[in-house]
Amino acid sequence: MSAQYLLREGCRKRVGTGATISLWEDAWLPNFPYRLMTPDSGMEELSYVSDLIDPVTRTWRRDLIEEVFLPEDCNQIISIPLSQGQEDGWVWIFDAKGNYSVKSGHHRAMELWRMENGWAVVTSSSPWRFVWTSTTPEKVKIWHWKAIHGAIPVRQRLIEKHVDYSDICPMCGAGPETVMHLLSECSVSLEVLAQSSLRGRISELSRGSYGLLLEHIGGNWTRDERELWMFLGWLLWDARNKKLWENKSPCPPSIILAATRLREEWNTAQSTGPLGTSNASYSHWQAPPFDMIKINSDGALALNERLAGGGLVARSHQGEVMGMLVVPLQGLIDPFIVEAATMLQGLKWALHKQWKRVCFESDSLMLISTLRSPSSQYRHEVGGIINECRRFLDQFDRVIFTHVRRQGNAVADAIARTAIHATDRQEWELDYPDQFRAIVALDRY
Ligand SMILES: [Zn+2]
Repeated sequence: MSAQYLLREGCRKRVGTGATISLWEDAWLPNFPYRLMTPDSGMEELSYVSDLIDPVTRTWRRDLIEEVFLPEDCNQIISIPLSQGQEDGWVWIFDAKGNYSVKSGHHRAMELWRMENGWAVVTSSSPWRFVWTSTTPEKVKIWHWKAIHGAIPVRQRLIEKHVDYSDICPMCGAGPETVMHLLSECSVSLEVLAQSSLRGRISELSRGSYGLLLEHIGGNWTRDERELWMFLGWLLWDARNKKLWENKSPCPPSIILAATRLREEWNTAQSTGPLGTSNASYSHWQAPPFDMIKINSDGALALNERLAGGGLVARSHQGEVMGMLVVPLQGLIDPFIVEAATMLQGLKWALHKQWKRVCFESDSLMLISTLRSPSSQYRHEVGGIINECRRFLDQFDRVIFTHVRRQGNAVADAIARTAIHATDRQEWELDYPDQFRAIVALDRY
């Protein structure tokens, strides 16, 4: 390494007044890579580090910082001590003995980082802005952002930096492995996409770069599709690493299931969408109002056998079982479609039983949100089922859709697991099998 390189790359700014430190361009954060992860907001009033400091109290403007920056950045900024009257300075990021002060693995990462110096140029008008505004975890957003900027260490990238010897894709054995190979060419990835609700979008994936592809996705896909794509992309990278480092072969149905579950769990955690905070989800089964019946609905999948089933249980306001229904759903593989198809069977079942005041409950927040909101967007494959559900609603005197966390939906879940291997639809009333009695009893306490 040349001395010049060491001087340039071995230093970061130390915050004093912050007036001479460029917020977006300088390396000034305490931890690697010392620069902001947050894309430049393009706001003129935020140019220097001093813009984040209250000039009177000499403290960080915490509210502003938390509003503008990603959590990773916020924590680092707020951890920097501010003292009275100190000028901005430099900090050597090597230790006293001249050793690089971060772990050796970081060196390689820094090479990649440097290669993409200037990648933090995503303005508010960027066509892939949806990445940042999506309801996904920060790590997923950052992964796609890095993918746009060539900062994912795919083998082609590592070969360019002379740190890898092969450019073969670990999943399919073809190559060269690039981000576009991983997301749009790899036979394993294409199998995952073909089994997912994005199968109709596969023909749209061939683009010159991931930036161009995301631009297309941002302009043409529904929010639902975009977010599923974001989770799937991130999980495909995870599957690729598991294959490379642990020799675990990727299983496309599990990847799809993981993406769907993650989306639901993330949405639940965020409490966003039409449910809002006033409709908090319950953790435990709750009896319906005294004049209503509650029907819990759940779907289950046996990924290896490509079998699916739905389970339904109807209970009174005293928690007494009024009926159970086992619904085999062979051939379905998308978890959301399985949930929706089970709910549709529940609606039909209730009407057949002349139950006119019913609370339908599921642990799929996405399904409940979709059913509650007449204008919500949904993927076209599931649209037919949702529309059919809606058509039945007029025939009830009163319908409520509620969400319950998975532990509150245990009876329906147990029935659904039975349904996976059932060949025929089966209904029980008071004579339901003993295997469910303990689970039913748990719900009553
Ligand atoms: Zn491949």
